[in-house]
Amino acid sequence: MTDIKSMTLDELSGALAAMGEPEFRGKQIFSWLHRGATDFEAMSNLPKTLRAKLAEAYYITAPAVARKQVSRLDGTIKYLWRLRDGNCIETVLMSYHHGNTVCISSQVGCRMGCRFCASTVAGRVRDLSASEMLDQVLFTRLDSGMEISNIVLMGIGEPMDNLDAVLRFLTLVNHPDGLNIGMRHISLSTCGVIPGIDRLAELGTQLTLSVSLHAPDSTTRSRIMPVNGAYDVDELFAACHRYFQKTGRRISFEYAMIDGVNDSDAQADLLAKKIRGMPGHVNLIPLNDVVESEFKPSRRIAAFQKRLESHGVTATVRRSLGGDIDASCGQLRRKEMEGREEA
Ligand code: SAH
Repeated sequence: MTDIKSMTLDELSGALAAMGEPEFRGKQIFSWLHRGATDFEAMSNLPKTLRAKLAEAYYITAPAVARKQVSRLDGTIKYLWRLRDGNCIETVLMSYHHGNTVCISSQVGCRMGCRFCASTVAGRVRDLSASEMLDQVLFTRLDSGMEISNIVLMGIGEPMDNLDAVLRFLTLVNHPDGLNIGMRHISLSTCGVIPGIDRLAELGTQLTLSVSLHAPDSTTRSRIMPVNGAYDVDELFAACHRYFQKTGRRISFEYAMIDGVNDSDAQADLLAKKIRGMPGHVNLIPLNDVVESEFKPSRRIAAFQKRLESHGVTATVRRSLGGDIDASCGQLRRKEMEGREEA
């Protein structure tokens, strides 16, 4: 059985042609799938015999809502989906004045090991398929009844550790016969996997690259992010420069503020020095308290921001949404895995 929703329109049309069907059938099926059809029987403009043939060769992914939480504070919705094989992943839907943004997962778990992150505590179970990434957008849209204008790949998983499927997902979600979400409305966040950054740069994609930096110096970064051992922070900055040269796109640096670890004035000075010469933007994130983590939120966010700005580096503080519903990715899945009770 083949995962039909991970196929591009060209692949689908080719497969239909090989079955002796007219090429336009590919487009019809693609359109059904991208509107969230879960059953070939529902594809009413296809001949019955073709529907039966398709059902023999292909399956259609469709996650089930395992849990859904709606924030009373700001309407943020968090979904815990159960996949075909029983694994669970999270998706968050956030409303901003400029439209609705969906934050999707790219893997079941993560193997990057960032010390402050809930998604990586139990390691990586498996990669998501392109269809399972697309489903998070499709079924969040259908279940919530809200139109989606932006996508961020900032949920569970490291997108660069599953880049082939991520690129395939981008092709699908970008397609005019599908959801048609433009690349400039999509952000991809990485903990700093340099070959992935270079590959995106080569493709010249117009998506927004976010780099989870969290420290400007190698010693601090290695302490909180094991990936720094493989891809050192200075090589990472060099890769960001290359990315900017190739794409002309400004990079967003994510910086979770951790008490006594990465929040000193000296670190702000060093960060500003290393960003200089590249139109980067620093996004300061109030650390989410993770049960498993030894780290505590910093109380120096405003001072750190001021210090960066005194060096001419633009920095914003990320508004925290869904604080009452474990909206930070990884937290709800952890709860489900451990059978922990709601607070
Ligand atoms: N693996 C990718 C994308 C997923 S994480 C990456 O590392 O970028 C999304 C963002 O949340 C990253 O910037 C990550 O470092 C950050 N994050 C993880 N745990 C956090 C926590 N406890 N508090 C604040 N931000 C956190």
